[in-house]
This record gives sequence, structure tokens and C-alpha cells, in this order.
Amino acid sequence: MNTIIEPFKIKSVEPISMTTREQRDEILRKAGYNPFNIPARDIIIDLLTDSGTSAMSAAQWAGILKGDESYAGSESFYRLEEVVRDLTGFSYFIPTHQGRAAERILFSICASQNSIIPNNSHFDTTRANIEHSGARAVDLVIDEGKIPSLIHPFKGNMNINKLEKLIDEVGPERIPLCMLTVTNNAGGGQPVSMKNVKDVSEICHSHKIPLFLDACRFAENAYFIKLREKGYKERSLKSIAKEIFSYADGCTMSAKKDGLVNIGGFLGMNNSEWAERSRNLLILTEGFPTYGGLAGRDLEAIAQGLCEVLDEDYLKYRIRSVEYLGEHLVNAGVPIIQPPGGHAIYIDAKVSLPHIPQHQFPAWALVCQLYLHAGIRGVEIGSVMFGKKDPDSGEEIPADMELVRLAIPRRVYTQSHIDYVIEAIGEVFALREKIRGLRIVKEPPYLRHFTARFEIV
Ligand SMILES: *Cc1c(COP(=O)(O)O)cnc(C)c1O
Repeated sequence: MNTIIEPFKIKSVEPISMTTREQRDEILRKAGYNPFNIPARDIIIDLLTDSGTSAMSAAQWAGILKGDESYAGSESFYRLEEVVRDLTGFSYFIPTHQGRAAERILFSICASQNSIIPNNSHFDTTRANIEHSGARAVDLVIDEGKIPSLIHPFKGNMNINKLEKLIDEVGPERIPLCMLTVTNNAGGGQPVSMKNVKDVSEICHSHKIPLFLDACRFAENAYFIKLREKGYKERSLKSIAKEIFSYADGCTMSAKKDGLVNIGGFLGMNNSEWAERSRNLLILTEGFPTYGGLAGRDLEAIAQGLCEVLDEDYLKYRIRSVEYLGEHLVNAGVPIIQPPGGHAIYIDAKVSLPHIPQHQFPAWALVCQLYLHAGIRGVEIGSVMFGKKDPDSGEEIPADMELVRLAIPRRVYTQSHIDYVIEAIGEVFALREKIRGLRIVKEPPYLRHFTARFEIV
């Protein structure tokens, strides 16, 4: 049989409220042409993010009832600690309310004004937390990872020559740790090969630099290794995941991704002195070390989610449904980042809408059109999100790329939902010359994409 089915049955459903184009026209206008301002009830298919949007299993919901809410020494903490230790092998496990809390604690204890932290590509919260500590965040992804149309099996790999050069130039004492993000979210959800994890680890360790994984999508990365890297075809996904972690000295994790939960995260590490300092900070801002900003029931759901996420049938369905969306868009002539990553498809709006100049935000315009046409919410990763203003002239400096990201929530949508998205994008593309650009009429000083208001040019 070739048909890949969703490897689950649906026990509890959430209705989607359907809207007409006329209604969406009004909703979009009211939202100031900013999809972040649209109430979720007015969205038909929500592809804004894969973070915290997973559907939990019956076993996870059962865990929610079993959760031990003791302030200290909760049974649920011990269960999750055991699962994380078995998976990662790290000696110390520190729960946090989400990934960025783990990042904030980690960089508060190890980074300072003079420090430099390399990564394949820093995710935006990671970069922000590093810069907040006064340190500098450096991206060293391979050159292939920066060319959207280029096909390469592991576009998330770090350029190890650049890593060695950086260590030589600045000296290992200025690099408190090196990071590697699996899969590389900021680079399009592209995987990192086992060989690259190993090479980066060897270089770091030869200079006594610890390697930390940003492990949010470790299971999706493990599946790509099984599919694409020689010698892993017959290996279990758990043993591949364990091998990835074995080359590292610690990790930050947002359980809102491959933890298959709606909130949660953790920090793992082997360094006892760093662990003690982390726990002291944890008590200050998150909570006692056996709950760290989470309820006991959340710890229970994460423990179960981390076991379920390595199920081969689940990952096969997961990676294939993203690839299926990508394949059909390519067949319809839609330019996307190739090959499809693990959690999202990225449409290249600069290529799609050449008649809209970057200062009129082509990717933002395409996001609005997708909502208007079919009630689908994607997100712009382009000049609204990453564009800058010239400090003297106030003129817009556009971002490098104009992308529309369609992130797929885990276990939430079925193939017919994806087929609906494919059909809608095809129809939008057939009339794309008619899409008009936008101008900003109101914007805040920081992170303007969340609250800015627009009008059509
Ligand atoms: C989501 C994410 C984070 C931050 O996690 P939050 O739970 O959103 O705070 C860090 N790194 C990567 C790669 C992510 O995708």
C-alpha cells in the first residue's frame, strides 16, 4: 500500500467556523490587514505556527489527570526527569515554562559582554537572549542553506571550516558554548546530519567548548537522518535521537514543538556547577526546581509526548504531509524553499509577486490574500518582520528574503485540510498579478509585525 494515512483516529473534535469571502474582507479590514489581529475563531486553517498548537493524545490527557501538583518532589517531575535522562543522557534536567526561559537562564549564567555564541542559525528568541546578555550571536550555516531553490539533504548543517576559523580568530576562551539547532528553524526547518553533529562536537571538544543543542525538533531531525543519511536506515528513531544527544553537553528545549504539548520546555546539561547556578536562577524567575514554571500535569503530558513523538508511523505521516504540501505547490508552479523542511513550507513571495516592490511588502500581501481567498492564516517572514529603518533618512531597508511560512501544527489537520490549502494557493496564484502591495499606517517601535496596521496601496 502506498497511501500514507494519519496514524490516529479522532476522539475529540473542535469545530472550524466557516466564513464567506465577504465576511473575511470585513474581518481583514477591521484587523488593519494584520493577520495577527484576526481572532482565531475567524480562521479556517491556521498555519501561523507549529509551536504549542499540537493535538495531545488520549494518553497525554490521561496524564493531565494523573499530574501530581505537589510543590516539591512531584511524582510527575520524576517521571519526566527519567524520560529526559533516558533520551538525552544528560545528568541534570531543569524544567522551564518554555524554550526561551531555558535560553534566558543558560545565557545568564555563561555569557557576558565579550562572549561569542556560534550556531547554524540562531532562532530569534535565542539571538535576543544572547544579545540581552551582552554577547554576540553568530550564524555559521553552510552556504547551500542560504539558497532557497537549491536541493541538499542537510541544509541545516554548520560550516565547520567557518567554526574553526571563528575559534582561531577570537580564541576559545571567548566562546562559552557552541549551539546547533535541530532542525534549523530559522533556516527553513532544514535538518542537520549526524556527521555534522559529530564534526561540530569534535571541533568544540578539542577546544574545550561545550556543545548545546537547541533541540526543539530533535525527532523530526532524527527522521530525516534515518531517511537520508547512510547507515541509519535500519536504526530505531530513538537510538538515532539518543546518538544526536550523545555528542552534546546540554540542550535547550521548547516542548511546544516535538514535546507534542501546548506549553513547556527544559534545560539539560552535564556541568554540575552550571546546573546549580541554573537552578538558583530558576527559583528566582520560574519556580522550584521540581516544577520550574509548569503545573505537575504539564510535566506529565511532556513525558508522554516525548515518548510518542519518536513513533515511526507518526514521523512518517508528519514529514510526508509537509512534503506532500510542498510537492503539490511545486507542481502548481509555486516557488518554495527546497526541499521541504520538517515543520513548514516557505513560499518565495519575491519571485511570486515581482510586480510588488519590497517596500510594499509582497510576502505580507500574499498572506493577506490567502486569508481573504480561503481563510488560511500563514505568516510573513520578510520585510515587515525583519526590515529595518535607516536611522538617518527613516527609509525602509528591506529584508534579504520575502517568505510566507505555512507551519503545520502536529496531528491537527488531515489530508483533506492540506488539499484545501493546495487548491486555495493554486487559485490565488492564478490571479497573482492582481494582488496589490500594502503600506504601514501605524507601527510600534519594536517587533512591529505583531501589531502594525496597514492599508492597500
Ligand atoms: C520555538 C523555538 C524556540 C523558543 O521556544 P519557546 O517555547 O517559543 O520559547 C527556540 N528555538 C527554536 C529553534 C524554536 O523553534
